[in-house]
Amino acid sequence: MRTERLLVLVLTRRCDRKCGYCPQGFDDADMSEGALDAALDGLLPRMAPPARVKLFGGEPLLRPDLVKRALDRLAAVAPRTPVELPTHGKGLPAVEALLARRPEVEVFVSRPDAWAARLPGVVHNFLIPPGEAPAATAGRLAAARKLGYVRFNFLPAYFVAWTPEQLKGLASVFAGLRLVLGRWAAAGAPAEVVNLSRRSSTPLYNDGLVVDADGEVYSSNLVLAEAVRPHRRLLRLGSAVDPGRLAARPAADAAQVLQDSFPAEVLASTRAADAELTAFCRALEEVRA
Ligand code: SF4
Repeated sequence: MRTERLLVLVLTRRCDRKCGYCPQGFDDADMSEGALDAALDGLLPRMAPPARVKLFGGEPLLRPDLVKRALDRLAAVAPRTPVELPTHGKGLPAVEALLARRPEVEVFVSRPDAWAARLPGVVHNFLIPPGEAPAATAGRLAAARKLGYVRFNFLPAYFVAWTPEQLKGLASVFAGLRLVLGRWAAAGAPAEVVNLSRRSSTPLYNDGLVVDADGEVYSSNLVLAEAVRPHRRLLRLGSAVDPGRLAARPAADAAQVLQDSFPAEVLASTRAADAELTAFCRALEEVRA
């Protein structure tokens, strides 16, 4: 039995958006059905319970057939396994009927629209760009709530440079968000901050068993970052088609690879922005305690 609890399946390395803040590296490569089946049949049973599955990309809904295959196979071999599906949202209508039958799927949508807000358990990945005024951020949060979103995953832009003034502004942004969340809670209509239930050794990325589109298995989806491309072998564990021979751990841990891959000023910015997010979460936890 392995220690990992999260299985990340990179269904495609493609994305049809090119968000300026996105650190991902893109390739014209999709996962084969064989690699998908091998990962679910061979890796999932070896993971520590309770395991979760993340259907990832790129933009995973560029391959709705693979999303459907993964959910159908999970329903057969490991029903009720929680599944996360991060997406920009454009492809959601193509899987509406499928998602309606699978309430254990948490859709993380980065562009909030009214349609996606109706999905059970939907989470809004709420990005905070450098330099946004606190009132504007609070206004976006209120607008998303009006659309029906009640679960939020807050993400300051990572792996971009924040100036000291922008970082100070980020602290004010989080203070404003705490006020809004506090008002909702006091009014008996609290929102859920999903960040409070997630932990990782690196900002933004996840530790776990990560099956890339080519079936190779890594210890973190940090391997998807463009800047990590030259170091990706250090995170490699093996191949999904040979699950019995996966290495117990990679040659280097994700935090070290992160350190060696990004320019020092970008890393310093990322850590500072992440520290503001951590302080925001701690303050919310203190209120809840
Ligand atoms: S993967 Fe997500 S953040 Fe990156 S370009 Fe695509 S939609 Fe934007």
